[in-house]
Amino acid sequence: TPDTSHLAPQARAHISFEFFPPKTQEGVEKLRSTRQALAQFKPEFFSVTFGAGGTTQEGTRTAVLEIRHDGFDAAPHLSCIGSTREAIAALLADYREHGIRRIVALRGDIPSGMVDVGEFRYANELVAFIRQQHGDWFRIEVAAYPEYHPQAASAEADLRNFVAKVNAGADAAITQYFFNPDAYFRFVDEVRARGVTVPIYPGIMPIQNFSQLSRFSEMCGAEIPRWLRLRLASFGDDAAAIRAYGLDVVTELCDRLLAGGAPGLHFYTLNASGAVATVCRRLGL
Ligand code: FAD
Repeated sequence: TPDTSHLAPQARAHISFEFFPPKTQEGVEKLRSTRQALAQFKPEFFSVTFGAGGTTQEGTRTAVLEIRHDGFDAAPHLSCIGSTREAIAALLADYREHGIRRIVALRGDIPSGMVDVGEFRYANELVAFIRQQHGDWFRIEVAAYPEYHPQAASAEADLRNFVAKVNAGADAAITQYFFNPDAYFRFVDEVRARGVTVPIYPGIMPIQNFSQLSRFSEMCGAEIPRWLRLRLASFGDDAAAIRAYGLDVVTELCDRLLAGGAPGLHFYTLNASGAVATVCRRLGL
């Protein structure tokens, strides 16, 4: 690897972009152009989410294979809730056969009404299973929650569970999104003090639509700070004003994260390139 220590932190930052599997032909084409627009930032990899319950599972595989076919590294997300060891083993074998070497390993959200959670209860069990079956073939990324997982018994329990998940064999972590950089720095300090050494990449959510962001945040336990919520609300239906303000806020967040030592950024693109590309350009990535 070239010595990049003389460069600004931004220039060395690891970048990755997350997509969801498109459900329509139009969505497939949109994702292609989004990917082409984001390729200029030379991401480490693109990742594709995986729906619990089967609806988008084939879509994940198809999207990942297409990205790899175009010459980029791609990581399928893999959630284990409601699944069996046999089904996960088959999927891992298929990914390996296709030369895939990265997995984002998750528990997944328990769909309402699900009674049988399957053979894996938590992501640490999936990580251990992947390692047991495939040794070091896959690079494994896991999820981290700087503002804590919404179902965690306590902050302390969530930290302990995260450390156990990393120790089960994760190579890196990607965080849930957040708007308060101190939540990230504090989380990193907490887990470093507990012996975690793997890189922890902040997950970055662009601000596009206030009501959608509020809904997401409610579900996943990400806090929209009062100053941001009130400011976004004050723009009412003015979508352009929300986007412009959102770009400023998210660019500054990324800038602070990188300046404070974050090893890179993982962007939740929602399959659109506009806001994310603007942030990357402004950061000089
Ligand atoms: P875990 O690490 O298993 O944690 C879940 C909860 O259980 C936490 O409260 C934790 O404290 C607790 N816990 C963990 N281990 C134990 C244990 N051994 N004993 C007791 N309690 C424990 N979801 C999808 O369905 N598809 C995706 O593609 C997807 N991609 C994501 C990508 C990222 C970067 C992130 C941050 C999230 C993603 N999610 C995805 C959402 C994720 O599946 C949910 O947040 C889910 O509720 C938790 O998954 P996890 O892997 O973090 O679970």
